[in-house]
Amino acid sequence: MQGSLMHVLLVEDDLVLADGIARILTGHGMVVDVVHNGLEADRALTSRAVSVIVLDIGLPGIDGFEVVRRLRSRGATIPVLLLTARDDVQDRVRGLELGADDYLVKPFAAPELVARLKALVRRSNPRPAEMQIGGLQLDAFSRRASIDGQTIELSAREWAVLEYLMQQASRVVSKQQIIDAILPWGEEVTLNAVEVYVSRIRAKIASAGISIKTIRGFGYMLEQASP
Ligand code: CA
Repeated sequence: MQGSLMHVLLVEDDLVLADGIARILTGHGMVVDVVHNGLEADRALTSRAVSVIVLDIGLPGIDGFEVVRRLRSRGATIPVLLLTARDDVQDRVRGLELGADDYLVKPFAAPELVARLKALVRRSNPRPAEMQIGGLQLDAFSRRASIDGQTIELSAREWAVLEYLMQQASRVVSKQQIIDAILPWGEEVTLNAVEVYVSRIRAKIASAGISIKTIRGFGYMLEQASP
């Protein structure tokens, strides 16, 4: 398990290539959302928490350049790695000028893609990710959870579930989303296991002024408890 999950939005209209890239990235423990055109990407970026974007330039509808332009015009600083189909200097310059952070020319080697994405995320998070809601504080760098300064002990999976719920605070998340978010590729966890993790977490953070509401038949929502 890693301390902080990387959520990648992959925007690629070539279905075979998209599938291949998604497998590589999930194989490296990243969580990958795949969309196949610019409008879907634009929509996803206004509604989801993403750590980094892998963005093809040539897309149906609005192209990758326009996706970056809209993203930056909203003030979003999420790092963007452009995929360019050819070694075209003009494309690269235009993409970087619009606010992309890096690019790769297809075809590229998988390890290079992974290394560049990690570097982009590292650069965009120079400080350890700290989150606080109510009296509960999570430090993803030291993997320490505390309530009003008192450390609480969490198993690796409890930590991962709680970290995800904190990241998605005040949003309803399904049990399946929790499973997708916490597990590296290839592991299996049941919906029942998620319920067990959540009930253990609830017991451990009971004094933090946070509630994890059950959304019946669907999932959970973490929020600050009303006083
Ligand atoms: Ca394309």
